[in-house]
Amino acid sequence: MLTRLIFLGAPGAGKGTQAVKLAARLGIPHISTGAMLRQAVDSGSELGNKVKAIIESGALVSDSMMIELIGERLRSDDCSQGYILDGFPRTLQQAEVLSSLSAAGGNYRIDAAVFFELSDSEVLRRLEGRRQAESRADDNEDVQRRRLVVYKEQTAPVVDFYKNQKLLRTVDSTGTVDEVHNLLLAALRADF
Ligand code: AMP
Repeated sequence: MLTRLIFLGAPGAGKGTQAVKLAARLGIPHISTGAMLRQAVDSGSELGNKVKAIIESGALVSDSMMIELIGERLRSDDCSQGYILDGFPRTLQQAEVLSSLSAAGGNYRIDAAVFFELSDSEVLRRLEGRRQAESRADDNEDVQRRRLVVYKEQTAPVVDFYKNQKLLRTVDSTGTVDEVHNLLLAALRADF
């Protein structure tokens, strides 16, 4: 089973849910950069104060800050058996830096990037549902719309980056949580 994983997909595509489930199943850390940043904001740390307004607007935190944050996190011992990166890389530059780090080996070497594929109309329908169920400061309608635009402009190219590197596995995300989970397991077991 591949265990050093990147999860990619539009906001609402279900990658966070699947990351939690697979991380528990494999006993590896689920590393959500969005959760790390929200925690920094809540704790009032220097990083948190720097990124608060950016996160709440739906824009992206700078590549250099993100690379520092994730570079440090991946060095931890708990990542030695694998990990799921949820929300990183979010730009081509982040992907390129991670790729150059992975040449050095260790925890930085990526086994696969999983793309959770979902139609635009289904993404919008799910985001609407999430707005009603949660009350996240960065999840109101305007911010969600902005995050989708940012996703298409800056993160969608990352999918092609991993396709070109022959590391991409695509999972159809339209089914139930359990159906998608089974497709995910099959995708990670199958040979390239
Ligand atoms: P998420 O929970 O992954 O949707 O992330 C919430 C917010 O955190 C995003 O809208 C960005 O403002 C910020 N963020 C999370 N991960 C990254 C990243 N890799 N690069 C830049 N900004 C990020």
